[in-house]
This record gives sequence, C-alpha cells and structure tokens, in this order.
Amino acid sequence: MTDEVSGQQATKPTLSKRARLNMLLGDRRRSVVALAGCSILSGFTEAGTLALIAQIAASLVKGGKHVNASIGHFHVHASMGTLIEVAFALTLLRLVLQIPLSVLPARIVAGVQASMRVRLFDAFARASWDVQSRDVEGQLQDTMTTQVMQATAGALQTTIFINSLFTFLVLMGTAFALNSVAALIVGGTSVLLFGLLRPLRRLGVRYSRSLSQAQVEYAGGIAEAIRLAQETQVFGAVDPQRKRVGVLIGNSNQLAFRAQLLGKLVGNLYQSLIYMLMVAGIAGLYLAGAKYAGSLGGVILVLLRAGTSGQLVQGSYQSIAQALPFMERTQDAMNRYAESAPKEGSQPLTQISGLAFENVSFAYNEGRPVLSELSFEVAANEVIGIIGPSGAGKSTIVQLLLQLRAPDTGRYLVNGRRADEFARADWHKQVSYVPQEPRLLHATVSENIRFFRDLDDEAVTRAAKLARIDEDIMSWPMGYETLVGPRADAVSGGQQQRICLARALAAQPEMIVLDEPTSALDPGSERLIGESLQGLKSQVTLFIIAHRMSTLDMCDRVMVIVDGRLVGFDTKALLQRDNTYYRHASALAAGTSPVG
Ligand code: ATP
Repeated sequence: MTDEVSGQQATKPTLSKRARLNMLLGDRRRSVVALAGCSILSGFTEAGTLALIAQIAASLVKGGKHVNASIGHFHVHASMGTLIEVAFALTLLRLVLQIPLSVLPARIVAGVQASMRVRLFDAFARASWDVQSRDVEGQLQDTMTTQVMQATAGALQTTIFINSLFTFLVLMGTAFALNSVAALIVGGTSVLLFGLLRPLRRLGVRYSRSLSQAQVEYAGGIAEAIRLAQETQVFGAVDPQRKRVGVLIGNSNQLAFRAQLLGKLVGNLYQSLIYMLMVAGIAGLYLAGAKYAGSLGGVILVLLRAGTSGQLVQGSYQSIAQALPFMERTQDAMNRYAESAPKEGSQPLTQISGLAFENVSFAYNEGRPVLSELSFEVAANEVIGIIGPSGAGKSTIVQLLLQLRAPDTGRYLVNGRRADEFARADWHKQVSYVPQEPRLLHATVSENIRFFRDLDDEAVTRAAKLARIDEDIMSWPMGYETLVGPRADAVSGGQQQRICLARALAAQPEMIVLDEPTSALDPGSERLIGESLQGLKSQVTLFIIAHRMSTLDMCDRVMVIVDGRLVGFDTKALLQRDNTYYRHASALAAGTSPVG
C-alpha cells in the first residue's frame, strides 16, 4: 500500500506501513496467503470458463460438432461435448473455491476485530490512572465500538482487495493471451484511471478523518446526556439537550454521507469508464471489420469481468484508505494507554510498618503545582484525618497515597522504600480505598465485595460484618446474591457506601484510604460506618478525608492542607492551640465564632 492511502495532508500519518498491515490483517498471514492462492485459482477458472463459453457460442452459431479454432496463442481442436464438459468442470471447481473464498475473509475480519478490541482494552486496563482519567467522556466506549467497527471494515475491504486484485490480474493475463492489444489498452486505462481517481480518494480520506473525530464528539455528547438526564429533566432542558445532540448527529451524518458517497463513486466511475472504453473498442473493431468472432467474444467477456474486478479493486482500495483514520485513532489510543502503564516493582509487601512523604510536589498541569513540598511521617496503625478547604489538594494526596499518581518531585516511602518498588499485586492487597461516591458493579452483593479478587465466601461475609452491612444483606430475600448496581434500586446510598467499605476490608489490607462520604449517608449508616471504623482502630493504618469535624474524633492526628501545603499535622489539641485553619473550622462546626 502506498503512503497515498493515508491521504494525510494536514496531519502526518501516525501508522507505519507495517502497523497498518498488522491492523488490517492481524497475524493471519497464512489465511491471507491462502486467500490470494484461492483468488488466483478462481480467476483462472473464471477466465477459462468465459473463453470457452464465447468459443462454444461462436461455434454453435456457425454450426458443426467440432471446434477447430485459434484463441490468441492457443489452438483448440476438440468436440463440442468435450469443451462443454471442461467448461462445466471449471465452473464446478469455481463453485468449490467459493467456500474458502467466503470462510477466509470472515475468519480474517472476525480475528482482526477481536484482537483489536482485546489489545485496546488490555492497554486501557494497564494504563496509568492519569491517562485513564484524562479520557474524554465516552471516548473509550466509542473507540471500542464505532472506531473499531470502522477499522474492521478496513480489514474486510482488504480481503476484498486481495481477492479482486488477484482475480483482476489473472483475467487481464488471460485477456492478454487472447488478444494482447485489447488487454494492454484496457490494462493501461485501468492504471491511468487509478491515478486519475486519486484526488477523490484523498477527499474521501479527509472526510473519514473528520467523521472519526465527529463520532468521538457524538459519543461524548451522548455519554454526558445520559449522566445528566436527571438534571436535564429538572431544569427543563430537554429541548436544548435534544438540539445539542441533534447537531452532533447532523455533523457526523453529513460527513458519513460524503465519505460513503466517495467510497461508492470511485468504484462506479471506474467501471462505467471501462465499459465506455469497451464500447469504443468494439466500435473501432467493427469499423475495421473484425473477423475472429470466437476469440473476440472471449476477450470481451474476460475484459468485462476484469472490469468488474477492477471496480472492486478501486472501491476496496478507497474503502481501506477511508478506514485508515479510524485505525489510526484506535492505534493512537492503544499507544497512549500502553506508554503510560506504570512500571512494575518487584519488592514483596506483607505489612506496612510506616510511611512518609519527603518533599513531595505534584502538578496536573505544568507550572501550576497543586501540592508543594509535602513532608510527613505516619506510623503503622495510626488514624490520620485530612482536612482543608475545597480545592486544597486533599483528593490529590489520596491519589498519591494510593499510587494512582506519582509525585513530580520528592519521594513517597513505605517501610523506608520508594512505594513504586513494591510488586503491584502485593500493593493492591495491602492498600485499599473507599471513595466518596459509592460505585457498584451491576452484579450481586457478594461479587461487589469480592471485586474480581480471589476471595472466599468467608472473607466476603467477614468484611460485610466488619462494615456493618451483613445484617442488612441477610434481611434481603436473595441475601448475598441480591443484584445491585448503578441502575438497581435494591440498596440505599448508605448501604452502597457500606458495601464499598466491605470491599475495601475484604482482603484484610494494612492501609485504607477513605474519602468520607458526606451526602449519601443516613444517620443510621453514618453511625454504623463510624462504629466500623472505630473497630479498625489500631489494626490498620487509616487515612480519612474528613468533611465533618466530628469525623476527626477517632483520628490520632490531623493533617491540615491549605493551598497544597501542609500547614499543620498534629493532635487535635495541639492544632486547636496552634493552627488557625483548624480553630476556624472547629468553631464553624461548633456554631461559635472562631477564637484567636
Ligand atoms: P474538594 O474538597 O473540593 O474535593 P480537594 O482538596 O480534594 O477539594 P483536589 O481535588 O485535590 O482538592 O484538587 C486540588 C486542585 O487540583 C484544585 O485546584 C483542582 O482544580 C485541581 N485538580 C484536581 N483534579 C485535577 C485534574 N484531574 N486535572 C487538573 N486539575 C485538577
């Protein structure tokens, strides 16, 4: 395939030729070779059948039971019966060849699609949280579905291209043997047309590239509309929302129309022009007084079929070119994810005897630090509260503690070693998390607590008891087999939060980071979670982002974060004495004015 297929004018092609071939055909080289071989054989059977049909028909017109003719360089002396038998055998062989010619493309295309999806999702699953969280809403869903489908269409077109190209070459070769002048004219014109239609191909690729982008925007718009469906109803924004989505649909619709149109137009134009050329050729032969009816009929038939194959070559080549932007987007996403995969440490981690931040700084965007020079030490089994105004950097600290993000400068030490030196599997077992918003799988309660880990029923029940959710679960008719999840109403917000706490406790971690829920909890659940956390005191190292001052009651020490800086880290009594923000926050919580 030439570079021209990419049709990139504004942007550079991001896929090398080898990567393109890999995406178009996967690793099914043998199937591709078999497809080419079957196409050649099928081409020969077709060419032979057509040449014989023309000769038999011409002989029938003349009358007689024998054919004695010269077809190009071939001389045929045989009875009509023998020729009909040979033609029949050729058609039979062609019929049998249709089986591999149907099975092989289907196998190649299905394999390419599955492997593209597997590789893409693997890369996403292994990507860093930083890259995962930067994805535009709906982007991965769109890439995994629409973009991959379109890229797979490129694989289908490649099989059509291989099949039709070899058929075309065999037919042209046969035509050349029958009548070299006619074949050369048609062959030469085909190549010329291929070149002439190049601007249309490039235009098609440009439309496809815009269409690929428009589809990402469309998917993002739909994902957002689903997420904000409730607000859209409440704020009476249904019509503007419909218009917004309508515009997104309109954009991709227009581009899809143009891309489709060009895809069809190129092949159709090619075939019509080839037919026009044939009619002109026949007219020329008529004027010159053509004599060789049999071979002439044969070459015309073969060239007509070559014209059809040529049309398929043109059309599929155009379609492959138009599938490239989708393949590039898919490959770019794979690369982006794969490059960000966090490195795997090797040190075992069986317990956490202490951790520390040493001058840790972090910025989401260069030049705008969110955390600056944070240093602290925490002993095993301490309960640490984290407070600070909104936007101070508390959630960012949580992400660093969990190793979802790495410090830009400074060190995060666990047991005196850099945290990223530990084996990930050990880390995930020892360090756990309860988010502010409970997020459940659409699955049973027990699967939600287990969360894909190899934990037995006992561990699940033990964790549910610790999280004070076991009694609730046992009161449901299906117990631990009750289906819960984002769209299932079986459980209240407080219960969901306790299921998430049970999930965090199930593998008996050494450290839990808990973003305290503020909104979802009913007083009953709040009390139960409080009890559960009290029960964990002195057993695990606990970090709690406290949104309420009352949560700090159970904390040994409290970190005060203001503007990304640690402005206090002490016991409550000492902070009350020395820390302005803490005093202010306690006074607000107590309903009195701040002191000092
Ligand atoms: P809150 O209590 O309101 O949740 P917080 O103390 O947890 O706030 P963070 O969420 O850590 O604060 O945010 C700290 C700063 O980092 C804020 O200015 C925020 O805008 C910025 N920030 C947070 N997440 C990102 C992100 N993914 N990309 C860019 N900036 C971010």
